[in-house]
Amino acid sequence: MKRVVNFNAGPSTLPLSVLEKAQRELIDFRGHGLSIMEASHRSKMYDEVHNGAIEKMRKLYAIPDDYAVLLLQGGASMQFAMVPMNLYKGGVIEFANTGAWSKKAIKEAEIQKCNVKVVAQSAGSNFDHIPDVHFSNECDYAHITSNNTIYGTQYRHFPETKAPLVVDASSDIFSYSVDWSKVELMYAGAQKNAGPSGVTIVIVKRSLIEEVSEEVPTMLRYKTHADANSLYNTPPTFGIYMLSLMMEWLEERGGIEAVQEYNEKKAALLYDAIDNSNGFYIGHARKQDRSLMNVTFNIRNKDAELEAKLVAFCEERDMIGLKGHRSVGGLRASIYNAMTIEGVERLVDAMEDFRKANS
Ligand SMILES: *Cc1c(COP(=O)(O)O)cnc(C)c1O
Repeated sequence: MKRVVNFNAGPSTLPLSVLEKAQRELIDFRGHGLSIMEASHRSKMYDEVHNGAIEKMRKLYAIPDDYAVLLLQGGASMQFAMVPMNLYKGGVIEFANTGAWSKKAIKEAEIQKCNVKVVAQSAGSNFDHIPDVHFSNECDYAHITSNNTIYGTQYRHFPETKAPLVVDASSDIFSYSVDWSKVELMYAGAQKNAGPSGVTIVIVKRSLIEEVSEEVPTMLRYKTHADANSLYNTPPTFGIYMLSLMMEWLEERGGIEAVQEYNEKKAALLYDAIDNSNGFYIGHARKQDRSLMNVTFNIRNKDAELEAKLVAFCEERDMIGLKGHRSVGGLRASIYNAMTIEGVERLVDAMEDFRKANS
């Protein structure tokens, strides 16, 4: 069997033990004689998986009882549209624009003719930092992207506001503990830090979704899914099963805080390699806003030829997914929860060897 070190930004690497468990259970799920993929979403067999996933998320992430945990489809991109559909009340939506995903969220609110105010942005320096964000307390809701997957920046603290704070946490969900008194809605596509693609996680304060305009289609109402425990229609059952295995794995690793500590070590290894390279490697994000999930860097003055050479050099050593997004260039190492410290060490070694050979 061959397993590469996979630095893809999403879908991204999954823990080997999770894949192996899924493999063992694939054909005969826990003695039921069929695959979980073949089971009715109304069966007791599936029910245990579904509710198990939700319960484990609640426990690990310390989600309060007055929040609903929804398992939807359509990706985070669908949430860009669904959030304003459900939460906009004719006032103003405030956004912090910290990159490509923020921009897409803003666009979907604009399509719905909502009043949109961008209170902070960092476009002028190619989104290399998290700007000072000051939301008002009066807007219908305020929206941030907690981790900017493409640029490699991340909030250290969420901005304060008395308005509901909505967080797109697609690329850092389950990587640190959340103070739920500060967040009223969090959403994430599962495929970066929580499992395979196909499931979208929405964690939302119930009081926020009680009332919704009659013009919102049934499937696009949070309330529909909250009232039906995300079983209004057929949910992505296999993806939810994988999510439940990911939650078990997180629990075995010692929970969110233990994983956060591990992530900090991993990121420090890479950022140290960048900072101690005598200017050969240059990080894209400003130091204080560096992401623990996506490490973005260039070689010298964006030497595209050397950058491509390093990507190929790593591929020869079975490390893939390192080519940076076209809007930043260079390299991007996505080191989500499931990336091992050994994987990061291998990358650091390769970066060192490459630097010595090309300095
Ligand atoms: C990947 C990503 C998205 C888009 O997710 P989809 O599930 O593909 O729609 C949105 N926001 C952020 C921060 C992302 O990283």
